[in-house]
Amino acid sequence: MEPVVYFEGEFRPESQAKISVRSRALNYGLGCFAGVRGYKTDDGLQVNLFRLERHVQRLKHSARILRMRLPGTVEEVMTILTEVVRRNDIHGDVYIRPLLYANSNELSPILDESQSALTVYCMPLGKYLSAEPIDVCISSWRRIRETALPARTKATGGYLNSALARREAMDNGYTEAIFLTEEGFVSEGSAEHVFILREGTLISPPSTADNLDGITRNTLIALAAELGIPFVERHIGRTELYIADEMFLCGTGAEVTAVRSVDRRVLGDGTRGPLTEKIGKLFDDVVRGRIPERKSWLTPIW
Ligand code: PMP
Repeated sequence: MEPVVYFEGEFRPESQAKISVRSRALNYGLGCFAGVRGYKTDDGLQVNLFRLERHVQRLKHSARILRMRLPGTVEEVMTILTEVVRRNDIHGDVYIRPLLYANSNELSPILDESQSALTVYCMPLGKYLSAEPIDVCISSWRRIRETALPARTKATGGYLNSALARREAMDNGYTEAIFLTEEGFVSEGSAEHVFILREGTLISPPSTADNLDGITRNTLIALAAELGIPFVERHIGRTELYIADEMFLCGTGAEVTAVRSVDRRVLGDGTRGPLTEKIGKLFDDVVRGRIPERKSWLTPIW
């Protein structure tokens, strides 16, 4: 069956959803997007989208910052996303990508709310990074700063920064790169937030460290409180990563991914640490619908 996508106001077969080579979205990277995961329940009967409303809210915020506009209310856009999954008859783990872009084919990079268009597609998705702890490096590229391009938005153009860092990391034999801010503090990964554990306290950089307004990060902070793990939001220095007791990355794609080493300094014994294991397990229980108190974070498809 050909995949069905939402494209500029209607559902269509994917082969009929095309944009021009002249598109400003393509030529200048004028767009913003979201990425939402859906998880199959243990009984195999349901697929639940995780924190759908918050993802669509963030897309709306990105649009507002970037002078773009969603084609409806948050509720209406949420319905479009669930409908795309339904129309593709997906009954397993899924990733949904709504993309809002500058729907204009003229020269010059101009943002204009009235020219925004939305497309939404989805795909089955398993692990994005690795179930095993990964080796990361500090990127030689700095994170784009808010004074140049708002990193708290999921702006398409900003992903050149992520792609450069990821490519450099992979060329050098690492799985992922960690960005520093221009000031030299830890910012985030190419598509993940950073947490470290030091002396029993979980630490993550503030959202003013030029990183995305993170939803998995926000989720894990709530889960840490539930588990009674002290959490502090503060700037993290580069070399604190080298001496952390544990470190993990998180994101919609990455979920909770343990870090084995940073710049070839192996953390602990190089295995997934006990805290990472604990919070990762609770996260998995939440997204799979095993925690009744957290069902409000889930939007059922079927
Ligand atoms: N940072 C960047 C740059 C990202 O693209 C992502 C993935 N959305 C994240 C962090 C993780 O954020 P979230 O948990 O909201 O998916």
